[in-house]
Amino acid sequence: MIKFEKALNIILKTIKPLKSEGVDILAALGRVLAENIRSDYDIPPFTNSAMDGYAVRSVDLKGASAASPAVLKIIDDVRAGSYSKKKLLKDTAIRIMTGAPLPARADSVVMVEFTEKAVNANFVKVFISTRKGENIRRAGEDVRKSETVLRKGVIIRPQEIGMLASMGARRVKVYKMPRIGVLVTGDELAGMGRKLSFGKIRNSNTYCLLSEISALGAVPVNLGIAKDNPVQIREKIRKGIDRNLDMLLISGGVSVGDYDFVKDVLIELGANMRIWKIAIRPGKPSAFGQINGIPVFGLPGNPVSSMVVFEQLARPAILKMCGAEKIGRPAVNAIFTGDFRKRKCFKYFVRVKISNKKGALYASLTGPQGSGILKSLVLAEALMIVPEGISRLRKGQKVEVQLI
Ligand code: AMP
Ligand code: MG
Repeated sequence: MIKFEKALNIILKTIKPLKSEGVDILAALGRVLAENIRSDYDIPPFTNSAMDGYAVRSVDLKGASAASPAVLKIIDDVRAGSYSKKKLLKDTAIRIMTGAPLPARADSVVMVEFTEKAVNANFVKVFISTRKGENIRRAGEDVRKSETVLRKGVIIRPQEIGMLASMGARRVKVYKMPRIGVLVTGDELAGMGRKLSFGKIRNSNTYCLLSEISALGAVPVNLGIAKDNPVQIREKIRKGIDRNLDMLLISGGVSVGDYDFVKDVLIELGANMRIWKIAIRPGKPSAFGQINGIPVFGLPGNPVSSMVVFEQLARPAILKMCGAEKIGRPAVNAIFTGDFRKRKCFKYFVRVKISNKKGALYASLTGPQGSGILKSLVLAEALMIVPEGISRLRKGQKVEVQLI
């Protein structure tokens, strides 16, 4: 049995990012950028108005107020998408809309709310003074020409896609999506749509794991259910490997039961197994190695264990394969509200809800923590990480929680 950190280390060392490919930016959502992106121009490309109002010279508005407004001659009108060829001279203003380029010699914009057309509509009364630069968006204030805005390794979200579009990038280089096979084992598993006869249960792991994989921007490959039978397990693993996989997940059958054959089959197939047991709860019977150079995880059959081990070990491995720089979930501190006993030699991942009272975060158990109790994982917003060496956690103690 090895410690969690050591297991994670061993796993991550064997994982390499895949090659890259070019995709349309709309196809890049959830993918990982495989190149640094620099802007060819300033964004915004020209200094422009942040408000609807009048472009002015602030010197002309010195001392302007409601009681003694400045009166400026309106010499032009400019809207977004066009520009004014005029330049501002003393005591003149140009009507301007948000996003329109700032006319020559204007140094600020006064909001329309602080103005009123004079009786002679060619003039405007301004009831307020402006500071230089007020209500103006400077060229390059968002992005400077040649600035590296997006770096290799970031996961592309809608805001990254917006940024790519504003730089005029139609296509972008991203890492290829790993193909990840999921094989579940167990005589007790009834396929979806099959009758649930006595002694059988539904197969939830296939669905949970396939969706974990999709959520990471990888390609899930369903390898079905294998009976607890070495011949069948071997066949399904072989077929899986033939499907051009970058990683293989096998759930169930990795423990020490009489019908747990995954271990024997992996060894027989020549897998280079590095891990058989990890000092974590849930998830102790977890294996890792490589088969034909493909990373293979043996996940526990219990639904919660399987997902927790996926989250803690397979997820970072897949993200690394996807080229991502950040592969961990965010963790924060919270105050524990319950009473929890544990075995000292294991690191625990405990299902908790998070609440925020007067600025402090509290972590409360979501229910029984058995590794088959999926409902308490459904209710969970975080996993409370309780390290080895601790045997009891009491109310009021500070804990680390990982937001899931
Ligand atoms: P195992 O790791 O094969 O000993 O399985 C441990 C427990 O997890 C057993 O109670 C199984 O019935 C349950 N289990 C195994 N595979 C699945 C699965 N695919 N979906 C739901 N439960 C499962
Ligand atoms: Mg089993």
